[in-house]
Amino acid sequence: MLNRPLLLVAALLFILTLVWFQQRQSVTEVARTALIMGTLVEIKGVGSEQQKLETAISDAFAVMREEEERFSPSISSSQLAVLNRATKAIAVDDQTLNLLQRGLEISRQSQRAFSLGLGGIKKLWNFSATQPQASSLTEIEQVLPDPTLDPFSIEGHQVKRRPGVQLDLGGIAKGYAVDQALQVLRKAGVRSASVNAGGDIGLLGGHGKRSWKIGIQHPRKPGELLATIELRDRSIVTSGDYERFFVVDGVRYHHIFDPQTGLPARGCQSVSVIAANTAEADALATAAFVLGPEKGLQLLEQWPGVDGLIVAADGSSQTTSGIKDLIQWR
Ligand code: ADP
Ligand code: MG
Repeated sequence: MLNRPLLLVAALLFILTLVWFQQRQSVTEVARTALIMGTLVEIKGVGSEQQKLETAISDAFAVMREEEERFSPSISSSQLAVLNRATKAIAVDDQTLNLLQRGLEISRQSQRAFSLGLGGIKKLWNFSATQPQASSLTEIEQVLPDPTLDPFSIEGHQVKRRPGVQLDLGGIAKGYAVDQALQVLRKAGVRSASVNAGGDIGLLGGHGKRSWKIGIQHPRKPGELLATIELRDRSIVTSGDYERFFVVDGVRYHHIFDPQTGLPARGCQSVSVIAANTAEADALATAAFVLGPEKGLQLLEQWPGVDGLIVAADGSSQTTSGIKDLIQWR
């Protein structure tokens, strides 16, 4: 006859195995993609109810499309397009006001390396053309706003664009849309999710029980990783000179501009920023890129709750002190 303690242990083990097996079976991952803001967006959700995940993810895509309609320069009814046509102060919605305020704040805190007034410059360089060309200094001078001034002013809900300045939200709107998607997922009760809008990544919880492992693209070796970073409940955004660029006479022209000159910023190959939200990470990555490796690293080091990895123009990498335990070099 078996003794009682042994029987008890066996029963307990049996129950634990059953629970483990059930949990393992009931966790599913749903991944969906959609083209939004000119970018392939992937949303992944992990949880036990497949239908709940499916619904939450399609609602998250829907809110990102709303942000696209609000901030797209090419949709003539967007708040951005309306602002860019307005000749006097106009009332904007809460979301637009919030985004403009945050962009302005980051601009002021980054020695104006980040600017929401580069719409004219972006249009001039026209990276979406089939054969983009380098702009001349004369052309740049005609559309470059005074880099020492705010491109617009805010009074209550009213926004007044500075005459002659065209606004562009391309350095922050995608991150903002990712945050809105995360909020929809969170409200739907999803506890584990990732939203990746072409390198602007927002994370909810971990990847199941583990952390999310985020690959950092090598800026000069397409398809190869420079490092991986383990994160949960954070956002990480990379700005690089390898995404949208063209080369003329051996010179690389890309889409992150120095507001002082209207030319592509030259100090970095890529900047990855980790922050509590994606809009902040997005704007700070662009700002640090423009500032270059030394001042850029200083900005990220000083910004509360932010970490980062900078690859300088010479290919050397530097990180903030807080990131060292999270990063694995390849
Ligand atoms: P991507 O949009 O490819 O992910 P970024 O987040 O680095 O890349 O943003 C680049 C975009 O930001 C440009 O296409 C342009 O719209 C805008 N931009 C370029 N230079 C600046 C700048 N100095 N400050 C703010 N926004 C900028
Ligand atoms: Mg950015």
